[in-house]
Amino acid sequence: MNYVIAPSPTVSLPIVGSEQRFPVRRVFCIGRNYADHAREMGATVDKETPIFFCKPADALVSDGAPLPYPSATADLHHEVEMVVALGSGGTSIPVAEAMTRIWGYGVGLDLTRRDLQAIAKAKSHPWDVAKAFDHSAPMSALVPASQATLSDATRVSLSVNGQARQQALLGEMVHNVAEIIAALSRLFELKAGDLIFTGTPAGVAALQRGDTFHAELEGIVSLDGQVV
Ligand code: MN
Repeated sequence: MNYVIAPSPTVSLPIVGSEQRFPVRRVFCIGRNYADHAREMGATVDKETPIFFCKPADALVSDGAPLPYPSATADLHHEVEMVVALGSGGTSIPVAEAMTRIWGYGVGLDLTRRDLQAIAKAKSHPWDVAKAFDHSAPMSALVPASQATLSDATRVSLSVNGQARQQALLGEMVHNVAEIIAALSRLFELKAGDLIFTGTPAGVAALQRGDTFHAELEGIVSLDGQVV
């Protein structure tokens, strides 16, 4: 192909135990998917209508890479989330079939400019500047679903500077993974390479320059980084 400018490189994630990489297409996120987090944000859970938003694929930050503190905020919040990677997609996927679309699992941070999100909420503006900024999605390597044993009792957690900040069991989600995939596929055609951030539990708080963070999907994979 003869492009007029150099095309952007394909964003990809490493795979635990493999030299191959997972090419990322889109990054979808669900909001308010743990009741205790919705409460701490002064919001209520809507079981009928999940909230979705997106981040650009090039917002992903690799495990261990320095995380630049973003511009235009004085309140950068962490949101630790289990992340699902799709190996196939579709539209209007039934809940009963949804889990067959999953290629693997990881853990990531849905970083949020909380001050800009508060303004957006107050003015009924879109969330893009609060959620979809550069470097807004630190992300672990992926573990193939065939090698990852998850259950409702699997814990997702985050510590900052060695202190526990967030933790929950996957079973505490309002919309489980199958329901999230089914609902998203009624709004977007999902495809292989899509990532889905599955929501954060309570305990969101600010990150400062110099902070180190450690996120874990218990027994599966972890993510480390430092804000610089
Ligand atoms: Mn989130």
